[in-house]
Amino acid sequence: MAKDRSFTAKLAHETLRHRVTCPVCNKELEPYLVVRPASTGDSSGQRFRKQRVKVCACNRAELGLS
Ligand SMILES: [Zn+2]
Repeated sequence: MAKDRSFTAKLAHETLRHRVTCPVCNKELEPYLVVRPASTGDSSGQRFRKQRVKVCACNRAELGLS
């Protein structure tokens, strides 16, 4: 079905619209899910916090990604 295919393509295009370009290196930022240790402030031990970040060459090393 050609119509269904174009509808799917449109949806994909809508998703891609959220792309962000880094103002520094002018490269497209990749969405990344990083897990960081988060201090709980009590003695229950260490917790981890998931954080969505946009990654490019500028902050890749900083985030521990290679
Ligand atoms: Zn950059």
